[in-house]
Amino acid sequence: MLDILPINAFTYSAQPYIIAGPCSAESEQQLLTTAEALAAFGVSVFRAGLWKPRTRPGTFGGVGSDGLAWMKEVKRRTHMRVATEVACPEHVEQALSAGIDILWIGARTTANPFAVQEIADALRGYDIPVMVKNPVNPDIDLWIGAMQRLNLAGIRRIAAVHRGFSLYSRSTYRNDPQWHIPIELRRRYPSLPIFCDPSHIGGRRALIQSLAQQALDLRFDGLMVECHISPETAKSDAAQQITPDELDGILSRLTLRSDAPAGDEMLHDLRRQIDALDTALLELLSKRMEISKEIGIYKKQHNMPVLQTERYNEIIARLVSRCADAGLDPDFIKKIFEIIHAHSVDNQLKL
Ligand code: PEP
Ligand code: MN
Repeated sequence: MLDILPINAFTYSAQPYIIAGPCSAESEQQLLTTAEALAAFGVSVFRAGLWKPRTRPGTFGGVGSDGLAWMKEVKRRTHMRVATEVACPEHVEQALSAGIDILWIGARTTANPFAVQEIADALRGYDIPVMVKNPVNPDIDLWIGAMQRLNLAGIRRIAAVHRGFSLYSRSTYRNDPQWHIPIELRRRYPSLPIFCDPSHIGGRRALIQSLAQQALDLRFDGLMVECHISPETAKSDAAQQITPDELDGILSRLTLRSDAPAGDEMLHDLRRQIDALDTALLELLSKRMEISKEIGIYKKQHNMPVLQTERYNEIIARLVSRCADAGLDPDFIKKIFEIIHAHSVDNQLKL
């Protein structure tokens, strides 16, 4: 259960709701020039990370509380609302006393219920919007659990931010979108605003336009995009940041959905969802074929026959046993996997 205020209580102004700003605050000048450029085309929330959760030590850890005064100046000059990431009660206290308007909880923090609970306790008695990024691992309950902890502490303006999920293997994306997870979140909590962060999903500037479009096609409520006045020189996430001008261009090329789908619009909307899921299926199939090729190379090097009948039976039996729970017809699944398997065998024979 999530007790959230209706969608437009999350300081809504425009559709889609745009949050933009640098991955990290680096200097007052950098913040002000970026923010002024963003404000010029109507971005309503300015984001900047002050305390940066870095995967590896020895990388830029953020300017910390020194940046709070710069955020105040951004507010004063541009009238945008300002948002930053908090990961512990000290960050919450400092952000609240500096007048930060919106907080967010980062992916690494959402994955830790102890940390989320401490943040929730520090927020008790305050009325501030909080955005919760998905945990790094694809666990919808952990994501929901973090929002519930905030909710139980009295926070009712909550939004989810989908930023993709870590994978061990390399893929097109920095963080795999796994769109079915935010889609399921929307199904369970229809009034929860869900924003997409195409910057952290893509990890590369070139992917932002198409990811942003997919997010809108899937009825996301807004976007959080990393913008830097000089992306190549950024101290964190340089490859995925874009200039404010580039963001302006991306936004103007997006096809917006109308607010209240009816009749044909509803059909188009469902079809767009199907298109996004089909793209995801295609990507999964391509990944599966790559791995099957690696297996083929291994078999060849070890002088093993390509066809391993018991392995094929094992694959089918495992999938069929899951069909009932997944609401799928086992004959349909068998047919699909026969084709997939036959194609894999074919590819391995050609090696
Ligand atoms: C960020 O928004 O800069 C950030 C660190 O994101 P995430 O928590 O999604 O990795
Ligand atoms: Mn970042």
